[in-house]
Amino acid sequence: MSDILPPPRSVDGKIRCDACPVLCIIRPGAAGACDRYANRDGELVRVDAHVVLDRTLAKGGTAVPFHHGDWDGTIIGGPGTFVTAIGAGTTYPDYKPAPFIVSADVDGVDMVTVVTEGIFSYCGVKAKIDTDRFLGPERSLVRAQGEAIGHVTTGEYGSQMLSLGGVHHLTGGSKKEGRATCDALLDLCNGKAVELMVDEGATVVVQAGQAPVVNGVQEERMRVGCGSATIGMFAKQWEGKVDDVVVVDDHITGVLSEHQAGKLLGIPDTGLKMKGRRSTPGRYFQVAEPGTGWGGTNIADPLSILGPFDAKVAWPGLRLLMVSTTGEHFGYFELDEVLRPVERDLPVDLAVSVERIRENCEPALSTILFMGGAGGSLRSGVTENPVRLTRSVKDALTTVTCGGAPVFVWPGGGITFMVDVTRVPENAFGYVPTPALVAPIEFSLRLSDYAALGGHMDFVRPLSSLDGDGLRQPVPQRVDNPWPLAPSNGRRSHG
Ligand code: SF4
Repeated sequence: MSDILPPPRSVDGKIRCDACPVLCIIRPGAAGACDRYANRDGELVRVDAHVVLDRTLAKGGTAVPFHHGDWDGTIIGGPGTFVTAIGAGTTYPDYKPAPFIVSADVDGVDMVTVVTEGIFSYCGVKAKIDTDRFLGPERSLVRAQGEAIGHVTTGEYGSQMLSLGGVHHLTGGSKKEGRATCDALLDLCNGKAVELMVDEGATVVVQAGQAPVVNGVQEERMRVGCGSATIGMFAKQWEGKVDDVVVVDDHITGVLSEHQAGKLLGIPDTGLKMKGRRSTPGRYFQVAEPGTGWGGTNIADPLSILGPFDAKVAWPGLRLLMVSTTGEHFGYFELDEVLRPVERDLPVDLAVSVERIRENCEPALSTILFMGGAGGSLRSGVTENPVRLTRSVKDALTTVTCGGAPVFVWPGGGITFMVDVTRVPENAFGYVPTPALVAPIEFSLRLSDYAALGGHMDFVRPLSSLDGDGLRQPVPQRVDNPWPLAPSNGRRSHG
């Protein structure tokens, strides 16, 4: 439990927490509405441990076991320590300085890290779901617990995209909608599975870093490319082994004999007729409706997207492979005397190419990016002149991290950032019932730059001063995350 907290007000043993606008009155031994603060013997305490990242642990050093009350804090102050905002506490209203403003000598340069658990009313989640299965029409509402919490947005290559949360769902609708939105965002950000229902679409279970489950079926692979790209990639491997190939795809279905790749290899016409809209030779749109069948279409029978073969061109015995973009669905056919496709066993040499398509499909995952905007009020906990912090971030003098994880800061105004939640330590996110999400945010910069931007210099304390002044949990730094505290992080730093 960290001990740097806003001053509590005690009446009859109860404490008023003023760490957020809810201003809970907390009885002795009880916790506030967000379960983040509690009244412990008349003292307002932050319930969770304050997380510090430790590089030594990441490099295979001995982990310091964390037990409430018996850790002596000896790693604090080492060169491989980074103070995160996880469990650090929130200040409200925001003219108060951030809970921790910690200085440290890094490679002979005085650095400072300003940490706070920010309350984000303007925040949400962008979910990338690796599947070609149809989740729902663009702009359809996405629901959790029956409430609208977001919508389907523009699909990407091999992935469906959802935009969830945002201020309108959090605060602009009913209380129930706000609560359902906050619950879903919190669970997604903390790595838990959430079931989402799309209007006129599918039910999908989404969990950061895990395979999505669409209508109860776990997705295994994302497609190697669209149908046309798959034709281009594998045309040579089919040459001589089959007369024509159709790669079924909801976006672009490819036909080998018509496609440029087939033409260059000298593959003759086969008289095959596709349904759908011909875009360019060998590339067809809308061969079926979107769905959860072959290649993200709604078909279960691939022959349903073919018209009759042209009798002037096709011939009995013509060999046809039909396959989806993931290799998950496939069928091999030969034309009979009246040019009707008859299904046969897949020849071994074609089975190899289907397996090759599968092999080239990466595992399907769900990716969750938390996106939030550090408002002027949050920034004032860092400096008395908040716009200077924004400029300092844009000028790359200040590094922004979320629980020590790297973030992408959007160009343009404000400090709007995105972070991959799987790179943030576990359970780093919280909430307050306004409703809003609580997310850790750290600003690291040179001490001289901090002074220049009007930082709260009177509140700067050395890293070593944290030793033993409260419970902190050392967590190994992820090896794939850059170390957040380095003078060189500021590309145009001076001093
Ligand atoms: S919701 Fe949490 S942070 Fe807000 S006043 Fe209550 S206990 Fe404090």
